Parts: sequence; C-alpha cells; structure tokens
Amino acid sequence: MSTTTPVSAEYELFIGGQWQPAATGETFERENPATGEPIGRIPRGSEDDADRAVVAAADAHQSRAWQDVPGARKQQLLRGIADWLREHVEGLTALVSAEAGKPVAWARFDVLFAADYFDYYSGLVRDVGGRTIPALRPDLFAYTLKEPAGVAGIITPWNFPLLIAAQKTAPALAAGCPVVLKPAPQTPLTALELARAFEELDFPRGVFNVVTDTGPGSPVGARLCSHPAVAAVSFTGSTGTGARVMEACAPTMKRVALECGGKSPMLVHDDADLEAAVDGALFGIFFNTGQVCNASSRVLLHDSIADEFLSLFVERAGRLRVGKPTSEDTQIGPLISREQMERVLSYVELGKAEGAELVLGGEQIMGDLESGYFVAPTVFDRVDESMRLAQDEVFGPVLAVGRYHDLSEAIERANATPFGLAAGVWTRSIDVADRVTRELNAGMVWVNEWLAMFPETPHGGYGMSGVGREMGPEALHEFQENKTVIQKTGRRELVFA
Ligand code: ADP
Repeated sequence: MSTTTPVSAEYELFIGGQWQPAATGETFERENPATGEPIGRIPRGSEDDADRAVVAAADAHQSRAWQDVPGARKQQLLRGIADWLREHVEGLTALVSAEAGKPVAWARFDVLFAADYFDYYSGLVRDVGGRTIPALRPDLFAYTLKEPAGVAGIITPWNFPLLIAAQKTAPALAAGCPVVLKPAPQTPLTALELARAFEELDFPRGVFNVVTDTGPGSPVGARLCSHPAVAAVSFTGSTGTGARVMEACAPTMKRVALECGGKSPMLVHDDADLEAAVDGALFGIFFNTGQVCNASSRVLLHDSIADEFLSLFVERAGRLRVGKPTSEDTQIGPLISREQMERVLSYVELGKAEGAELVLGGEQIMGDLESGYFVAPTVFDRVDESMRLAQDEVFGPVLAVGRYHDLSEAIERANATPFGLAAGVWTRSIDVADRVTRELNAGMVWVNEWLAMFPETPHGGYGMSGVGREMGPEALHEFQENKTVIQKTGRRELVFA
C-alpha cells in the first residue's frame, strides 16, 4: 500500500478465504469526497453473494473451526490483526482518508483505534465469561457457558469505516462468532483491506468474510438480516435504517445490536471553565465534520455565560483549518458526499426558516475546495426544542445553541428528544455534575470532557439511539448465547417412580 493518496484499484469480495467477483460480475466506483476523483472499483454484491458468505461462515461455525481454537491461539491471531494494522498504518491512513475524506491525522487515529480494539479483545478472548452456581444442593453443580451465538452479520456506516468494522468484528470473533462484514457503499475499501490481514494471518477459512454492495437499499445488508443462518446482527447507522434492520431480523429472532442516531446535548453551566468547554464543544461538533453519532450537536448555555461562550466559540471556530484531507495540518475535511452536503445545507435553510439565528458559516466552501463537499463550520443561536434543528440528526458541522435559566430547565430540555446516545456537562460543581449525570437520559455522559472513548468503555443508546452495547466486555454479550448446565453427582433418588 502506498503512503500517498491511493490510485484507483480493483477489488473483489472476500468469501470463504478467497477473493472473488460478485456473482453478477457487476461493480461500482467509489470517489474521493475531497476531490470527486475515483479511488476504487468495488464488486456490487447481491443476495447471492451474501448467501455464499453466510454459508462459508456457517460452515466455519458448524465445524467449530474457530470456536474450538484454544484461547491462547485465538489471542495470538487477534493480536496479529492489531499488529498488521499498525504495520500498515500509513497505507491504511491514506485509504481511510481517501474514501471518507478524513484529514490524515484523524484517519491515522481511526487505524490505530481499530488496532487497539483487536488488542483489547485479544485479551478478553481468554476470559469470555460464565459463572458457577455452587449452592443449589450438594449433589448438584451448575455453571453457565458463554457460547458463540453463531454467524455474526456486521453492517457498518461510512463515518469511521475501519474503526467501526474493528469495533464490531473484534468482539464478535472474541465471542467465537464467524463474521460476514458488509461495509457502507461509500467506504468499502478499508473493509476489503482488513480482509487481507485475515488472509495473511491464517485464520480458518470462512471466519471473516467481506461482501460489499450499493443502493438502492442494501441487498446484502437486508439479506444478512433475513438469512436464517445469521444468528446476530450488529448495525451502526441511521435510526430509520436501524428500525428496518430490527424488523427484518424479527422473523428469525436474531440477536440485534443497533447503534443509531443521536442529538446529544452538552450543558455548559454558569461555573464552567469556559476555555475548556469551548474547546470540548468545538471538538464535539466539528470533529469528523460533525459526522459523528456522539456529536455535541446541541449546546445548552447558562444565560449568564452564553454571550461570552459564544463569542469565544465563534472566534475559535472561524480559525479552524478546513482543507484538503491530505494535509497533516487540516482539522476539518469534506462531508462524505454531495447528497450529504445538500442535506446539511437544507438544514441550514430550515434553521433560518424556523427562526434560529445563524451566527457563523452556513454555506459550501468554494475556491480551491469547490470540487469537494466542504461546508463551513456553522452555528445557530437561539434554537429551542420545538425546532427540527434541535430534534433531527443533521450529521454535519452544524451546532444548535440554546440558552437556559436554571438547571431543571436545562435537564428537561436536554432530555426533550427521542434520542439518548450521549450527553454531558461542563461545571466545577460536583453537585451539578452528579445531578446532571443521574438525570440525563443517555448511554454515555461526559463530565468536563467530550468524545473520550476507549475499547473498554461500553457505548450505546437510550431510546431511539439504539439497542444493546458496543465496546467493553458488554460487546461480547451481544454475540454470545448463555448455556446453563446443571450437573448431578451421586445416585439419583427416583422422583417419578
Ligand atoms: P446513511 O443513511 O447514513 O448513509 P444508513 O443507516 O442507511 O446510512 O446505512 C448504514 C449501513 O446500513 C450501510 O452499510 C448501509 O448500506 C446499510 N443498510 C442500508 N439499508 C439497509 C437495510 N435495509 N438493511 C440492512 N442494511 C442496510
């Protein structure tokens, strides 16, 4: 792999340990969102390809080709993926950057985070859980076995293509489940590159498969949800698609883990360290151009500090380095596609029409960035919860600011969306921090911090933000069955004589 922008390459599907074209022979092209130039030709997978991959994975499961590999060997293999990712960090960084439009510094972070997931779960693979239940009766001994649920269907989005693929694949494999990975059509390249690691490292055939597709809809994703031989589906994406995934999984009673949208509120109280809060809010909404499910897309400011916070925020937002993702200096890259840019700009128009006050940005960046999908960091003030700007996930660099008088009001307004992915507060008061932490409905609460996440910290949402948890040991549970064993010793006293 090159360390500069990759030239357009031809890819194949990875099924049963072999590279192969889509059954139809069809392909599609993926472009670099910063330049509009082609970067790869990808197989257009169909239901047939999904079926072949599921059969390969199901064979691996049936034959216990992966399940029965000793823990120490599983650990070596998973660790090997982490090492492989680090060895190829520069090539993969260039590829993540090219397919997702990410500034290279952050694309590198994605690759290293992906490696860290494999490191973390390579440790947990030797201790996948289960407990003893010792006090039933002297002649009975009970224990639980945590067994792999079966084939895992993994459906990933485009915002952190390699990172989220690793976030789901590593625990699935650690739980003992063979994987069929279906990446987003916008960012299929790094998922296919990840397959090279599995090929080189001698994993048993069929343990890791990648099938790409493109719209309309997702024929491969939909098939993974309906296929009777898939036991668990782990999905990250929009809330609407997540609901469809859950519905499609219902007839075959799959385990479903969904990580969906958010409209995460950040409270800045009157006693906050404003410099730190401004920095957290900038990172929270503009990191990855706002295309982050945990983005702090709503900031609620205490009246007494609102003007000072906003003037500091706007001044610093205006100095952020938006530019070509290939530059190490760039902080903010383009949106993923023209369609996404148009969607984001339509929310700018909506915000104005709803009566919110545009105080920064709100337009596409032209000049030498015109051929990409760059939108200026955008801030709306005086947004209230009746507006769609406060309710809908925009998934772009658009911040909705509201102002509050007292903490009860702030908490009520923070909770006034159907989502519950993340939330947070900036304050120097332990009482405020504690109350907000308890009363905000969110799967993740940050206090004087935002977006800090590690493989060991469980992540997932309340309400319409999803079902189940990723990361941490909790992620293993999404891919495990519990088998309770009750074992008798000694002579049985006949009870039914
Ligand atoms: P977005 O709207 O942000 O592009 P989606 O939530 O629709 O993202 O997509 C996330 C992932 O889900 C992608 O890999 C996409 O191809 C896949 N997907 C889309 N529709 C379906 C579906 N009906 N069933 C399963 N997966 C789907």
